Formats: sequence, C-alpha cells, structure tokens
Amino acid sequence: MSRTHLGLPTFPQAARLSTRDEQLRANLRHATSTIRTKRATATSELSDWPQLRAAGAAIKDHTLHHLDHYLEQLETAVTTAGGTVHWAIDADDANRIITDLIHATGESEVVKVKSMATQETGLNEALTQAGITAYETDLAELIVQLDNDRPSHILVPAIHKNRTQIRDIFHTRMGAWGRPAPDDLTDTPADLAEAARLHLREKFLRTKVAISGANFMIAETGTMVVLESEGNGRMCLTLPDTLITLVGIEKTIPTWRDLEVFLQTLPRSSTAERMNPYTTTWTGTTLGDGPQTFHLVLLDNGRTDTLADTTGRQALRCIRCSACLNVCPVYERAGGHAYGTPYPGPIGAILTPQLHGTTTPLNASLPYASTLCGACYDVCPVAINIPEVLVHLRERITQGGPTTTNGTKTTIKPAKRHTTERTTMRTAAWTLNHPAAWTATQRLTTRTRALHPRRLPGKTARAWTATRDLPPVPARTFRDWWQHRDADAKDTPQ
Ligand code: SF4
Repeated sequence: MSRTHLGLPTFPQAARLSTRDEQLRANLRHATSTIRTKRATATSELSDWPQLRAAGAAIKDHTLHHLDHYLEQLETAVTTAGGTVHWAIDADDANRIITDLIHATGESEVVKVKSMATQETGLNEALTQAGITAYETDLAELIVQLDNDRPSHILVPAIHKNRTQIRDIFHTRMGAWGRPAPDDLTDTPADLAEAARLHLREKFLRTKVAISGANFMIAETGTMVVLESEGNGRMCLTLPDTLITLVGIEKTIPTWRDLEVFLQTLPRSSTAERMNPYTTTWTGTTLGDGPQTFHLVLLDNGRTDTLADTTGRQALRCIRCSACLNVCPVYERAGGHAYGTPYPGPIGAILTPQLHGTTTPLNASLPYASTLCGACYDVCPVAINIPEVLVHLRERITQGGPTTTNGTKTTIKPAKRHTTERTTMRTAAWTLNHPAAWTATQRLTTRTRALHPRRLPGKTARAWTATRDLPPVPARTFRDWWQHRDADAKDTPQ
C-alpha cells in the first residue's frame, strides 16, 4: 500500500481550490503550452514516429505478457554481475528494505536521483522517521523539497512555480539544508542553476549512499538505465560507495535492441529533445569503478493486480514521459496537486486507482478527472488508450464488485453518488430496446418542446447546464420527416 495519498480531498474538492489560484494557472498555462509546442515539433521530425510508437507498445506488451520470465532473467543477470536483488511486495516492504540497507552502511545521509517509485512508496518520509536525511538532487525536486511542497508534474515537479518564487525559496530555505544561496541571487535561470549546483556539489562529494530509480531494466544483461538532463544523476550513480535502486517491475525490457526504440521516443516526448543529454547505464558492480555495492529493489505495489486486468494493464506500458499531462485540459487548469498522488494527470488518473484500488474517495474520483477528449491517447509514445481505461475504471466504480490490491481481495460497493446516472442509463437502455416506447417518447418530446426548461433540475445537472445550452428539440422527429418527405416536397411551392 501507499501512505502518500490517504486522507486527501477528492479530485473535485482539490481542483475547486486550485483552479481559483490565478498564479498557479498562469504558471501551468505557460509551461505546458511551451512544452506542448516543442514536443509536437520534435516528434514531427521523425517520419517513422507512428512505427516507433507501435514498436514501443509491442515491446512493452510482449514483456508484460512474459514478465515472470524476464524478471527471473533480470535477477540472474544482476546477481551474476555483482548486484543483490530484493523483492518488495508493497510500499512498506520497499521502504523497510531500503532503510535496513542504509542502516547497514552506518550512514545517515543519502543523495537521490529523481525517482517516481520512491515518491510512490513515500520513501523520504520513511527515511526521515528512521533518522536518515535524503537530499533530492534534481533541480526541480530540490525546489520542492526546500519548500516542503509536493511535486506536481512527472517530469517538471516544480512546474507550478515561477522563477521569482524559486529565487525566494532558495534565499529563505537553502541555508537550512546546506550551503546557502548568495545574497545577490537573481531570478535568471543561470543564477538559479549555479546556486543549486554549488549547494548540491558538496553533497555529491560527501555522501556515501545514493538512491535512484531507473527508466528501464534490460533483462538480458541486468543493466539499469537512467535518463536525465542535468548531470545530477550521473553524480549520484557514480560517486557514492553504495547504490540502491528502486524500480517498478514493469520497467523491464528484454534486450538492448529494444532500448533503441525508447531512446528515440522518450526524449522527444518528454523534454522535446532529439537525444537525451545524460543517459547512464550500469550493470552490477565493477571493481574500482563506481559504487562497489549495488542493490536492486523490485517493487510490485499493485502492479501484478493491474496486470491481471486485460483492459487496465496497458497503463503498465507507461514510460513516464509526461506528454499526456502537457496536453490535458484538466491538468492544465487543476494542476498536479489536485490529483493527490505522485502520478498526476491522465496517467495518474488510470494508474493510481489500479495500483492502490478505488476504495478511497480520492482514488474513486480520479477516473472522472477527464473530459475524455482523447488528446492524451494521441500523444502517448506507447499508445496507451487512456480514455478507454478511464471509462473501464468508471464502470468498475459505478458497478462495484470484487477487486484485488496487493494480493488482498475486497468487494467495492456500487458508488452511491452515481445512482442518477445508473437509473438514467437503465431507462435509456430499456427504451432503446423497445421501439414502440422509443417512438412514443420521441413524439411526446417533440409535442411538449415548448414546455422544456432551459436548465435541467438537480444540483449537478443544473451546474452542468448553467454553462451549456440544451440543444433545441426539433418540431418533428427524423422518422416523421422521412415518412412525409414526398408529401412535403409536393406541398412546397416551386
Ligand atoms: S501515459 Fe503515455 S504519454 Fe502519459 S506519461 Fe505515460 S508514456 Fe507518457
């Protein structure tokens, strides 16, 4: 399980507040529209983009269908190369394993490469409780950590902050964590980056343990692959004595050759770069070069249950490029915090309810955080049909029924708040299945059209129609018009 999002407000409650924050909306609008435009240019340069997209989806699907085989192959290869593999069934398990490994080194500080998996398990909070300080080294993660905030975007965790806000955070908070920011710090990107670089450099040189995630794990050789743009990852992955890597089991790919596809699609989809700036790969340990102790912690935390869902399992193809966030009209207005989980945006709306179940009000609200416009599906480099999974999850929530989360079976009650929708759909289904009833309903509707209200009754329906006009009902049904069209034509003056 994950403790990171229990007790938080539902998506509509949180979005109601965040959409009132004009500064947040301005920051998000500017950032997402910039990335969106650049990504569209970067992907349009490749004439075989559709083929790469299909290949990425096929590689991921093949691996997921044979995940047991590739995970065992990966474990053997990592172990042969001098690493140690640990299996974590859930977030608590992963945090306990990592805490024990750090304690065994005698250290009380770690440097971290940006990792969604560690956010998912709430690792930083678990380490703090165990007396271990974790230093985030990705620039945006550093900003979020210094401000005691939460990330709001997969790729750009501080997307909700502008440069002036970041300068103020560096001024007021950096000193409490190490080397302070200079007094004359400006809000130019170069100055801010230099302040962060100097602040982090002493941590890279001092800290003996590093924690990372990985974008991919190559089963055939047991190789970990990390893509990043700042060079902080390279520091963390090479300087410390001990490296602990926490990765979701779905990040496995069979061969180096498969990596070729993702090294083309991931940078263009995420940062709109033709080639990733820092791609670090390592296989176990090498005597006298890099960390001499390597631990790989493989995280399930709901992934096996997700794999069992034939519609929902496509979410496990995700390579965390964040393209779907940047095109989502709901994300752009509500921001990442409204999702209440480490995975915001469209992918979060389908991944979180599958990994952690839909038994909490927050998780049950996430599949509804979408207009189903389909823009997320269009841009996804591994062709995840997010709208299809959203509708599938909505059906699951509305209908209720058995579900399994981290091996624990529960039964979800049908959602009470969708009673009106269910009743409407049942009535519509019955009417459409009975032609006489359908014809009578149509005639009654056209004959009473002058009496129809312009706004629907009921709180939700009224709010919906407050900003939308109900379409006018025509004087005749299509069938009436069709039956009488010849007579109408004769009556029409020539
Ligand atoms: S769902 Fe697709 S577009 Fe969204 S982050 Fe994952 S890979 Fe990228």
